[in-house]
Amino acid sequence: MRRSPSFEHHNFAWRLQALCVGEDPEMFFPLAETERATARARAVCRQCPVLLDCRDWAIRHGETDGVWGDTTASQRRAIRSAAVRR
Ligand code: SF4
Repeated sequence: MRRSPSFEHHNFAWRLQALCVGEDPEMFFPLAETERATARARAVCRQCPVLLDCRDWAIRHGETDGVWGDTTASQRRAIRSAAVRR
């Protein structure tokens, strides 16, 4: 299987330091994107040494679900929309 160039050339080393490894995936991918449902995952993110790398990756690759880098999917959509308008 061929991967897109953006995946082939992206540095994934930051993932080795991800604090969410071993956490319950449902915490990071809750059914609802409420403050209450995402609070625990976002608290883990705020302690994570690779928060900015993770957030940048999720925004650049259009991750449409879950908590990445202390952001929800709707927050990342807003960030991408603001970037497009600039
Ligand atoms: S910032 Fe959050 S989602 Fe990203 S690697 Fe760290 S703990 Fe995981």
